[in-house]
Amino acid sequence: MFPEFTLRYSSLPERFYAPAEPDSAHQPRLIAFNRALAEELGFDLAAWPGDEEAAALFAGNRLPPGAQPIAQAYAGHQFGNFVPQLGDGRALLLGEVTDRAGRLRDIQLKGSGSTVFSRGGDGRAPLGPVLREYLVSEAMHRLGVPSTRALAAVSTGQGVVRERLLPGAVLTRVAASHIRVGTFEYFAARGDQEALALLVEHVIARHYPELAERPASERPLALLEAVQRRQAALVARWMGLGFIHGVMNTDNTAISGETLDYGPCAFMEAYDPATVFSAIDQQGRYAYGNQPQIMQWNMARFAETLLGLMDEDPQRAIEQATAVIEAFPSQYREAWLGVMRDKLGLGGGWVEDAALAEDFLQALRAGGADFTLSFRLLADCAASSAADEALLALCPQDAEPLRAWLPRWRERLVADAGDPEGRAGRMRRTNPLYIPRNHQVERVIQAAQKDDYAPFEALRAVLAAPFEEQAGLEAYALPARAEEQVVRTFCGT
Ligand code: AMP
Ligand code: MG
Repeated sequence: MFPEFTLRYSSLPERFYAPAEPDSAHQPRLIAFNRALAEELGFDLAAWPGDEEAAALFAGNRLPPGAQPIAQAYAGHQFGNFVPQLGDGRALLLGEVTDRAGRLRDIQLKGSGSTVFSRGGDGRAPLGPVLREYLVSEAMHRLGVPSTRALAAVSTGQGVVRERLLPGAVLTRVAASHIRVGTFEYFAARGDQEALALLVEHVIARHYPELAERPASERPLALLEAVQRRQAALVARWMGLGFIHGVMNTDNTAISGETLDYGPCAFMEAYDPATVFSAIDQQGRYAYGNQPQIMQWNMARFAETLLGLMDEDPQRAIEQATAVIEAFPSQYREAWLGVMRDKLGLGGGWVEDAALAEDFLQALRAGGADFTLSFRLLADCAASSAADEALLALCPQDAEPLRAWLPRWRERLVADAGDPEGRAGRMRRTNPLYIPRNHQVERVIQAAQKDDYAPFEALRAVLAAPFEEQAGLEAYALPARAEEQVVRTFCGT
């Protein structure tokens, strides 16, 4: 059933990884399988082996032909502190496959047991985080955000010991690659310039083939620039959705520009840049509003790993890298403004647009309004001012700033050609009605822990079409009521 594996990463020298074997799960049971993604990857679904055999494969009990499991080495800055060796401690790479579009994609099992990088950990994953990653990563994809994907989830039938005993599970994750800023840091910390040079070439071939035409001496700096552009665009997309990654360590920053690691992530409801969900983020380092700055910081750590390859003269290398990193805020700002123009239904580019967007956000803040619904209902306001009161009703606090903002926005809209219905339609295709709200995700997890997967299936179906109104499913669009709120998330390691 699996497509043929290509062993690209494991053709790198041995110090890039360690061989790893998945542990056997006692009683693997298939709880989710992503047929659309499987088709995209070239799986032969006509040769589906049955759920039981599929569960054995996705649990790691049986290896698909040609897979050669390895744990990848990497380091990383966690909450600002450098850890020279992290590595796949609860994940292993089966290998890469070539998808129908001709791109290499990693297939990784997450939660299938310990590796040489596990240190004290058990290499296992509780069901909760597996379901969260499944739902949220797939939702991100449907929302149009570059992301790792979820191919399958199995429960293992085994308990995982955390603060209490939790049911265990394995996620099959698909990624453009799992190479991270931390992969570069691992070799930089060891002064291994040869490995860094190999990694640069590997990453360019895989993710940035257009850079292969540049002279070799220019490639490291060009790679830094290219990765940074993707990351600036990625964070702008997150910000436009109220997505809070929650653990933007450099080991969770993918070189491909995909969103990676859904441990403690959550979507903001009432707009507040200081919003933090992750229980371990006590200083709010990874708060919603800090994400752009943190990404710039992560890019600076990436730049440091490349200095030795950039220029023989260390001073010149630093100057070149610094110039790139200093460009991050303006690159981000431009990407963000593009996102906000789409969200506000603005065509063209007026200098006042940034202030208009900022003031809308300030008005949401003053009103205590739900971020996602506010943009969604603004689309209705684009069609007709009869919808204004419904939008204003989203403000439990002071609605006056929003009321004052609406005429300014309408004045700006006059400058664009186009009919109001057309604009409203475009806005509804960029402002989702449904996002994986944290209380819904928690509800799914609580039920699944009692072996009830109906809420999981229901939420999964809603999130498959986040921009379309789905009859009878209005409740999924609503923010948590006070008694439903879940304001903390846990990595689940
Ligand atoms: P993460 O929180 O997923 O970014 O993981 C940070 C580091 O901790 C990585 O090196 C992981 O492989 C490792 N890790 C997380 N959970 C476990 C676990 N249950 N067992 C072993 N290692 C783990
Ligand atoms: Mg991680």
